[in-house]
This record gives sequence, C-alpha cells and structure tokens, in this order.
Amino acid sequence: MLVLGIESSCDETGVALVESEGEGVPRLLAHALHSQVEMHQAYGGVVPELASRDHIRRVLPLAGEVLARTGLPLADVDVVAYTRGPGLAGALLVGAGVACALGAALDVPVLGVHHLEGHLLSPFLSADPPEFPFVALLVSGGHTQLMRVDGVGRYALLGETIDDAAGEAFDKSAKLMGLGYPGGPALSRLAQEGDPEAFKLPRPLLHSGDLDFSFAGLKTAVLTQAKKLGPELPARKADLAASTQAAIVEVLVKKSLAALKATGLKRIVVAGGVGANRLLREQLDAACARRGVRVHYPELSLCTDNGAMIAMAAAMRLQSGVEAASGSYAFDVRPRWELGAVLAA
Ligand code: ATP
Ligand code: MG
Ligand code: FE
Repeated sequence: MLVLGIESSCDETGVALVESEGEGVPRLLAHALHSQVEMHQAYGGVVPELASRDHIRRVLPLAGEVLARTGLPLADVDVVAYTRGPGLAGALLVGAGVACALGAALDVPVLGVHHLEGHLLSPFLSADPPEFPFVALLVSGGHTQLMRVDGVGRYALLGETIDDAAGEAFDKSAKLMGLGYPGGPALSRLAQEGDPEAFKLPRPLLHSGDLDFSFAGLKTAVLTQAKKLGPELPARKADLAASTQAAIVEVLVKKSLAALKATGLKRIVVAGGVGANRLLREQLDAACARRGVRVHYPELSLCTDNGAMIAMAAAMRLQSGVEAASGSYAFDVRPRWELGAVLAA
C-alpha cells in the first residue's frame, strides 16, 4: 500500500511517500521538505497568515518532487494522509484541503493524522526501528510529554509540562540572549564553548515525585541572570547558554529515567525537535547504557516537522486496523487536539 503524507501544521511543508506490505514496518520511499524559518525570522516567530500562504505555494511542487524521485505516478497512491492537528488552523487547512482534493481526484481514501503521533512514531523511519512497548519522551516546540506506548494508538500519558515546552525553553532563552529564532539549535551550538556550571539555574519539578515538567521558571531565571550580567552578557553568553542547556537536559534525562523506573520498561524513544539536541542524546545514552535500557531516536533530519512521519503514522495506523475515510471528502482540522483523548484504546 502506498501512502502519500502531507505535513503543514506550522512552518514546515513536508510531503512523503511511504510503502507498507503486510505487517512489516512501512518503508520510506522519498520525502521532501520546505522550511519557512527564513521567512519568519524577521518577525522573531511564526506569522500564521504568512505560513498558510507559503504552504499553498509549496505543497504541490513538493508532492511532484517526491513522486519524481520515486518514479511512481500519482495514480499509484492508495491513501492520502494529512496532519489534522494540533497546529495553526490556517496552515492545517492547506494540507487538509490539498489531501482531500487529491483523494477525491484519485478516488482513494484520506486519513487525518495527529501531529504528535507522527513525532512519536518517527523513530520507525530509522534503520533500527524500536519494538513495542516503550516509554516515549516527546520533546518538541509545543509539547513535552512522557508516554507509555504499548502499540499503535495505545498511548498513555505519564506526565507533561504544566507550562512551557522544552523547545520553548530553548527558544525563549535563546531569544533573550539575542540568538534569533528558532534559537534552540543556535543556543546548543553556542553552549559547546561555555561552562555548564557557570551559573546556577533552577531544575524545576526535578524532585516533584511525579513525571510532570515546568520550564517557565527557568526562562525567568535566565532573564534575571542576563539582566544581572548587563554589559558583561556578550562575554558570558556561551556560559549562560551552556548552563541553560544543562538545566533543561538534566530535567529531561532524570524524568525519563523515572518514567522507565515507574513502568519497568527497558526501552525509550525520543521524538520531536529537541531530540536533535546533542547533549540530551549523550546524557540519555550514557544513563540508559548503565541501566541496560535501549534508546531510539529519529534520524537527526526527521526530529523536527516533516511529511515522512505523517505518512509513517498513517501507514502504521492503517496496518493496525484503522480505516481511512472514503467517499466523503469533507474535512475539518483540530488546531487544539489531545493525543491521549483521541487515540487511547
Ligand atoms: P509541536 O510538534 O509540539 O507542535 P513543533 O512542531 O514546532 O511543535 P518541532 O518541529 O518538533 O516542534 O521542534 C522544534 C523545536 O525543536 C524548536 O523549539 C527548536 O528550537 C527545537 N530544537 C531543534 N533542534 C534543537 C537542538 N539541537 N537543541 C535544542 N532544541 C532544538
Ligand atoms: Mg518548525
Ligand atoms: Fe512538531
């Protein structure tokens, strides 16, 4: 079965083709991505209307690119999948509209996918896919969650952030250090030259005894520290970046270990943009190796938003028995959408 997947929830347009046969892990045939980061940079964040318009410009050429790369005709597509939510309403509508139009034109079913399920299942795109069950640490720009995953569609929330997401903590700290948008990758690059112990920053909820996170206070502490440094800030920026990164990563690693302990599972999957963070990977790998726990990540390039994870999630859902909608091409999007509430078995 050939699944065409479309991602357009925020500032990346992604299209991909995934093929599934029987029960085996579906295979990525090709994917293409356009990031709008440069376009939004001037505004210091995503401008929703500009995002929607750019998705309109990009999505069909990207689909053409993916088909050309595989040499397959559009008519071979069996199902069209799209990100139904959560995300920016206008941006989601572009992907949903295009997917449903393609579905109608090809007379094939369409399937709306939860964006976080895409992130969650993205490690299945790697050469060494995980096996169920596992703990999932989902760390993206808008979410920070620990989940117990027993199979496709069988997700139990163990804990989540009560305020900012980990990616947001990276981005907001980076912004107030003047590192631009989105600052996560820039902050982590700068941190390599700094001393992670230079500044004492809080590790919120580290000892709360549950699996929840909180990053809003950390951002405030970084701001206070930056103000205190005043004219010295430029010279100490790398130290502040390193200290910030160390605080975020320590909390993510400790809470992941607590989730592994609480569930008794010996496997963890890390997904979402912050999963690309080098320090997080190093520290989690080291801590898990000591405990005999296997860690799985998506490919570096597939940590942030992409179409491959949407096509993959759709293909795996179809394998699990979920039916795509055929005959009707009316669609709606879900800008706010809880993963657990919709998919829990
Ligand atoms: P969501 O999936 O929750 O809707 P999103 O799609 O915006 O949010 P992603 O695309 O998964 O989030 O990830 C983007 C986030 O990842 C940004 O906050 C970015 O700063 C962060 N990020 C990317 N690379 C790194 C890195 N190397 N270190 C730290 N943060 C990073
Ligand atoms: Mg993005
Ligand atoms: Fe995302």
